[in-house]
Amino acid sequence: MDTAVTETIEQILKRQRDAFDCEPMPDHATRRDRLDRIGRLAKAHAAEWCDAISRDFGNRSRHETLQLEIAPLMASLRHARWHLRGWMRPERRSSSIEFLQIANRVEYQPLGVVGIMVPWNYPLLLALGPLVDVLAAGNRAMIKPSELLPESSALLKRLVERYFSLEEVAVVEGGVDVAAAFSALPFDHLLFTGSTAVGRKVMAAAAQNLTPVTLELGGKSPALIAPDYPVEEAARDIAFGKLMNAGQTCIAPDYVLVPREKLDALSQALLARFKSFYPRSGGTGDYSTLVGARALDRLTRGLDECRARGVSIVTSDIPVAAGGMQPALVLDPPADCLLMEEEIFGPVLPLVPYDTVEDALRFIRQRPRPLALYLFTRDNALERKALAETRSGNVTINGTLLHIAQNDLPFGGVGPSGMGFYHGFDGFKRFSHARGIARVRLFNPARLAMPPYGRIAALLARFMTRG
Ligand code: NAD
Repeated sequence: MDTAVTETIEQILKRQRDAFDCEPMPDHATRRDRLDRIGRLAKAHAAEWCDAISRDFGNRSRHETLQLEIAPLMASLRHARWHLRGWMRPERRSSSIEFLQIANRVEYQPLGVVGIMVPWNYPLLLALGPLVDVLAAGNRAMIKPSELLPESSALLKRLVERYFSLEEVAVVEGGVDVAAAFSALPFDHLLFTGSTAVGRKVMAAAAQNLTPVTLELGGKSPALIAPDYPVEEAARDIAFGKLMNAGQTCIAPDYVLVPREKLDALSQALLARFKSFYPRSGGTGDYSTLVGARALDRLTRGLDECRARGVSIVTSDIPVAAGGMQPALVLDPPADCLLMEEEIFGPVLPLVPYDTVEDALRFIRQRPRPLALYLFTRDNALERKALAETRSGNVTINGTLLHIAQNDLPFGGVGPSGMGFYHGFDGFKRFSHARGIARVRLFNPARLAMPPYGRIAALLARFMTRG
C-alpha cells in the first residue's frame, strides 16, 4: 500500500492523541456540543444523505434511509443527551465488612482514540451510531467507511470536516488496503462492523497492538413461528424485516422455522405481504436494489443449486429497479445447501418446516450462534423454554428488527456473530475505562494485617478466611 497513506493515517492518530492528552476528561458541555453536531450533520443534510445512498445503491428508498438510518440515530442522540450527566457520574460501590473503612466507586474515563470501521449496508447509521457512544464517553474517533459506497463515503467525509475538527473526528477513505492499514493502527479501542470473515482479520491485526475490539458481525438469524401463533400475523413482520433494504440487513430474518402443516399457508401469506408492501402502482422506488454484482451472483447460485436439487422456489413479482432482485421463498431446503450454510443477506428466504418445537430449538442450537432470534409465540412457557435453550446476540419476540431500536438494550452478537455490545449506557461503558477507585476513609484496615504478625493479625486471618 501507498506508504504516504499509512503515514497520513498515523499522523491523524497522533494529532488526535495529542489533542486527547490536552483534554483527557471532556466536561458535560463539551460532550453535549459534540452530540449536537452529530445531529446537525445527519438531520440538516437528510436529503443529501438519501440521494447519495440511493445513488450508491442504484436505488434505495428514501423512506428506508429516513426510517432505518436517520430516525434511529436521532433517537440514540436524544437518549444520550438526556442521560449523559447521569452516565458521567461516578458510581458508588459497596465494601465488604472487613473493608468498611474503604469507600469504593467506579469512574468512567474516556479511552482515547477509537477506530470505527463501517460496512456498506447502513453507511450513515453504522458510522454515526457508534460515534454517539464514542463521543458521549469523551473520546476522539477515526472512521473508515466502506469503499463500496463512494458517494456516501465522500459525503460523510465532507460533512464531518464541516462539523468537527480533524482532532475530534476524522474520516479516512480508501480501499481494502487502507482498511487493513486502518485496522493495524494502535487505537485505544476498535469497533468493527462487517462480515465474520473480515472480522477475524481485523481482530488479528488489532491483537498486534493489544487493541481491544468490539466486533459487530453477521450470521443466520432464525425466525421461529411457534404452533400457537397465526402464520398470517407472523408473515407481516417477517416480510417487513426481510425486505427492508432488500434483505441487506445484518439482523434480517435469514430463514424461518414453521410447523410443517403451516408451510404452504406461510408461503402464501408472505407472497401476499410482499405484494401489498410494494404495489405495482407504487413504481419501483420503495424496494431497494442489491449492492454489487457479486451479491446477485451469490444469491442466484444459491437458488440454482436448490433448483438443481429439486427444491421448490416461489418468487414474487413486485416492481424491481435495475440491479434489484425479486424476493424468493425456498421451501424446505436441505440443511447442507449454500442458502442454509451461508448468511443470505438478500431477499431470499428459506422456509424450514419442523415437526416439534424441540426439533426447531435443536435446529437453532446446532448452528453457529446468530446475531438475532425472532420468536413468534403468545405461550409464556414456550417463550421461556425457547429463550433458555438457545443463544443469540439479541431477541425480538412477536416482531422483527425492533430490538436494535431500543436505546436502553445492549446490541451485539455472540460467538461468530460478534463480540461485545454497545448502544445507550452499554455503549458509553464500552468506550470508557471503568476505573475502580478504593479510598481509605479515616483508618486503613490493612494496617492490622501488617507484619510482624501477632495476635490481632491471627484473629484477623481467621475472620478473613471464614467460609
Ligand atoms: P465486510 O466485512 O466486507 O466489510 C466491512 C468493512 O471491512 C469495510 O469498511 C471494508 O473496507 C473493511 N475491510 C474489507 N476487507 C478488509 C481487510 N482485509 N482488513 C480490514 N478491513 C477490511 O462487510 P460488508 O460486506 O461491508 O457488510 C456486510 C456484513 O456486515 C454482513 O455479514 C452483515 O451481517 C454484517 N453487518 C453486521 C452488522 C452488526 O451490527 N452486527 C451490521 C451491518 C452489517
